[in-house]
Amino acid sequence: MKSEYDVLVIGGGPGGALAAKTAVESGLTACIIEKRPAIGAPVRCAEGIGEDLISEFFDEVDPKWISAKIERAKIIAPDGSSFYLDPAMAGNEVGYVLDRKFFDRDLVWQAVDAGAECYVRARAVDAIVEDGYVKGAVIEYGGERYEVRAKVVIAADGVESKFSRYCGIDTTVPLRELETCAQYLMTNIDIEPGVTVFYVGRDVAPEGYIWIFPKGERSANVGIGISGTQSKDGKRAKDYLDKYVKENFPEGKVIELIIGGVSVCEPLECTVANGLIVVGDAARLSDPITGGGIYNAMYSGKLAAEVAAECIANNDWSRDALMKYDETWRESRLGKALQRNYQIKEIFVKLDDNQLNAILNSVNNLAMKEFSTLTLIKELMRLNPKVLKDLKGLK
Ligand code: FAD
Repeated sequence: MKSEYDVLVIGGGPGGALAAKTAVESGLTACIIEKRPAIGAPVRCAEGIGEDLISEFFDEVDPKWISAKIERAKIIAPDGSSFYLDPAMAGNEVGYVLDRKFFDRDLVWQAVDAGAECYVRARAVDAIVEDGYVKGAVIEYGGERYEVRAKVVIAADGVESKFSRYCGIDTTVPLRELETCAQYLMTNIDIEPGVTVFYVGRDVAPEGYIWIFPKGERSANVGIGISGTQSKDGKRAKDYLDKYVKENFPEGKVIELIIGGVSVCEPLECTVANGLIVVGDAARLSDPITGGGIYNAMYSGKLAAEVAAECIANNDWSRDALMKYDETWRESRLGKALQRNYQIKEIFVKLDDNQLNAILNSVNNLAMKEFSTLTLIKELMRLNPKVLKDLKGLK
């Protein structure tokens, strides 16, 4: 490990990988520090991503990244009624269920092939802050501590992000906006291949949902997220999941369990500081409705490195100069969607099961010429003017 790079990236997830790759492709030196012993494992994710979103980064999607192609989404209301969002309407729900063990590893591989360095089982345990600037990180690696300096540090250390906190940024997620999740990888289950399934309702998943994301003909990620404030003894995410699995997949075999958290809060108030850019889950950029954040991490990681390269070329990586990153993502399609989806989420978590039933059952009467979350919500508002009145003015 060298003692100095242009860009030091904390975390080897999709955000960190895209940041490092973009940095070296822009002519900078870059190093990824990853605390886990292997990139991509254990993976804490249901692995769903929209086809249009992943295509933004790759001319071709490598078949080994894909566990299943998704054609439709099915939503199941609290009263058991269900409806499909078909391919023409399903927008982001049409896409892939990835195999992130391969996907995440290949992203870092591409960064390393392009010239980045990467150290696994290397943990950032503190920030180097001097003269009001983040100037690097203290890294624990192979039983030793190293000071690694950089012009710009990119914090891509995921939902549990500590690095920004070491730098003095408040990253607290209110408990009610932290979804606690449990997920089984299951085999030997009857599923509809090519269909992602979502169950909503207070009894099934309070302030969250259960998902089934196919991984093959008879296997799937079967998981749940519930609000942190709803998680209590005997009513943890895993308790709800076990109940669901026992009732619906009694013959199923569990071959993996993951427990994790997803933030459904607003993004950090500011995602840069002198010498620091925060990306992906660390910046709280996961979607407040779905919890999805793979694309968001890749987009922000890439953008962070582009802005870092420009600032380094101009010999100015102050907060003011790096603000271009913060302003760009907020103005982007992603930033606008995060803002809108936060408003929608805040309304939906307050609905009781009867209101949810009414809204979801009205979906069968939708009249949409084009699909987007905004047109879907506007249609639902037209059909449920009283329940969704607080969403008036949604942009
Ligand atoms: P991460 O992928 O979390 O990567 C951060 C990395 O930083 C980790 O490898 C971590 O080990 C490392 N790290 C942390 N601290 C340090 C440190 N101090 N030093 C060194 N390394 C460190 N998103 C979707 O788009 N689709 C889904 O279907 C989906 N399902 C999900 C299901 C569950 C149960 C959960 C928990 C999340 C899900 N997500 C999903 C969210 C998605 O996993 C994240 O948004 C995405 O991985 C964020 O990427 P990232 O690069 O920001 O962070």
